Amino acid sequence: NKRVKVKDLLASEATGQEVIVMGWVRTFRNNQFIALNDGSTNNNLQIVVELGMLDENTLKRITTGASLKVTGEAVPSLGKGQKVEIKAKSLEILGDSDAEKYPLQPKKHSLEFLREIAHLRFRTNTFGAVFRVRHALAFAIHKFYNEKGFVYMHTPIVTASDAEGAGEMFRVTTLPFDNPPRNEDGSINFKEDFFGRSTNLTVSGQLEGELAAMAFSEVYTFGPTFRAENSNTARHLAEFWMIEPEMAFYDLEDNMNLAEEFIKYIIRYAMEHNREDLEFLAQRLAEEEKQLPQDKRSEMGLIEKLEFVINNNFERITYTEAIDILLNSPAYKKKKFQYEVKWGIDMQSEHERYLVEKHFKKPVIVTGYPKEIKAFYMRQNDDGKTVAAMDILAPGIGEIVGGSQREERLEKLTERMKEMHIPVEEMWWYLDTRRFGSVPHAGFGLGFERMVLFVTGMTNIRDVIAFPRTPKNAEF
Ligand code: ATP
Ligand code: MG
Ligand code: MG
Ligand code: MG
Repeated sequence: NKRVKVKDLLASEATGQEVIVMGWVRTFRNNQFIALNDGSTNNNLQIVVELGMLDENTLKRITTGASLKVTGEAVPSLGKGQKVEIKAKSLEILGDSDAEKYPLQPKKHSLEFLREIAHLRFRTNTFGAVFRVRHALAFAIHKFYNEKGFVYMHTPIVTASDAEGAGEMFRVTTLPFDNPPRNEDGSINFKEDFFGRSTNLTVSGQLEGELAAMAFSEVYTFGPTFRAENSNTARHLAEFWMIEPEMAFYDLEDNMNLAEEFIKYIIRYAMEHNREDLEFLAQRLAEEEKQLPQDKRSEMGLIEKLEFVINNNFERITYTEAIDILLNSPAYKKKKFQYEVKWGIDMQSEHERYLVEKHFKKPVIVTGYPKEIKAFYMRQNDDGKTVAAMDILAPGIGEIVGGSQREERLEKLTERMKEMHIPVEEMWWYLDTRRFGSVPHAGFGLGFERMVLFVTGMTNIRDVIAFPRTPKNAEF
């Protein structure tokens, strides 16, 4: 197969060599000019069919969406914008596309509508750009940690542990639907779920990651996580991907430094390798924002925003400072916040976005959250009230990272677990890390789709994952 990708061909010189290209028809004009796309770039390759070369029937079958194999000569293009086009020598239709039924309309489809037509969605320029950028970010993540000597760990998807105790888990069960084992009161005995154990889909790989870090020093996971979020927000999915580095010998400061360096690295990588796609998305966003009232528009374009983020330090503040800023804000005084603001709250997205978008106008790292709103494993500060947590908040989104220095002191940890009614005995495997050679360690979780949202300028998290899992979305 001597097939050449459209992207490579468009970047090459037209030397008159013979090439094979395959792809899908975007448009066909004047029975002569085919715009062919193979997903390697949003730019279509022009195929020129000489008059008389193809019979009537074949010409009729070259419709939008049909797939073709074309053999031809790469020649200089007379059209604008492109150096190369293909002078077809032979053309084979691989798959027809019924022009009557093809779901293409003259007017642009909405993103919502496209979510309903899985195959077409991938063939649009918007999703082409989004998923190529997503790919680049995923690759850059592995590249970053590999360069730093981290070990990539695969943590389990099915687990009996509930990392957060947040009660947002999907059960995994082998119980028969028709006649499940029952307790004396008639309720289903879920203890029998997984051949005798109660199991769920993982909400985070962190606890297992900690075990690995206590041997390999620096590890990371990058895998799917599941939360039964029965909410319909633009930033929550029931199935999302998370990157969770975990590092022995790191304190909170080291943790923040790594997270900031990491985020900048992967953005820079996408800017260097996917410039065209990002420019396309920037243009798309700019057009979309033209429809918004002036005060709702972003101050910076997408590219400008990304450049700003990689070239400036993130703001670092404490939770207490964040609450003070909110309480003294014009938004608070004008009662613009829907949710209550006071020390002790779990900040809502409106609060987080106020801090990053209105107040600091840059990403913000917030540390020292009240222990009551954070998980049991976070290291307790000496004040007795706060923990060594850190969240990273990004413009347009809010929280993209949640992390902390972990509690490495066995006694403090078990005491906190008891307070929070977490079964200490069952967690012996985890607590062993604190019994045998415990060390200060830290880690964080970056929500991959939130990162993709940030980089692509898309606004709904459903549009940055290939097959979104949300309360009403499970077939494709
Ligand atoms: P939020 O406050 O937005 O619900 P969280 O505090 O519950 O997030 P964490 O448990 O801290 O989330 O998870 C770490 C990261 O995973 C978050 O910072 C976020 O980027 C991402 N994340 C969490 N829940 C979801 C979700 N339902 N869909 C997509 N990403 C998510
Ligand atoms: Mg949540
Ligand atoms: Mg949160
Ligand atoms: Mg969080």
